[in-house]
Amino acid sequence: MSTREDKAHAMLAELKRSGLKLTPQRIAIVRELAGDETHPTAQDLFDRLRAAFPTMSFATVYNTLDALAAHSLVGSLRLRGARGAVRFDPNTSAHHHAVCDRCHAVVDLPAEPLDGATARRLGRQTGFLVSGEERTYRGLCARCADRSSA
Ligand SMILES: [Zn+2]
Ligand SMILES: [Zn+2]
Repeated sequence: MSTREDKAHAMLAELKRSGLKLTPQRIAIVRELAGDETHPTAQDLFDRLRAAFPTMSFATVYNTLDALAAHSLVGSLRLRGARGAVRFDPNTSAHHHAVCDRCHAVVDLPAEPLDGATARRLGRQTGFLVSGEERTYRGLCARCADRSSA
């Protein structure tokens, strides 16, 4: 996986190509998300950046994230039981998620490459052209599991 700076650079270049002006606020939003593996919501990022950018609006944060997601530069996920809001993900390689039932932390899990035989079988059965797979595992994150056994 690339470093935070590489990731931020790639995202900014793509935003620029898609015609969005790279304002200091947008650059800060991209930088904040690029190294964040906690799958933050737009609100999380807005709260963190507000001190540095008191005039920034929530819409600016949301629209920037939305544009990145539209160009597949970030993932977006909506998980049952994880506070409902869309969460953004700088990790665009194939991976699964584990969601903590207690604190709603979302953790990346490595994914095996898509199983070709399964994809073909599903294709024959449903006509659906399967190109990827995302699973959600549920349970307790390491911190919550620790706490409940203490
Ligand atoms: Zn937890
Ligand atoms: Zn993820």
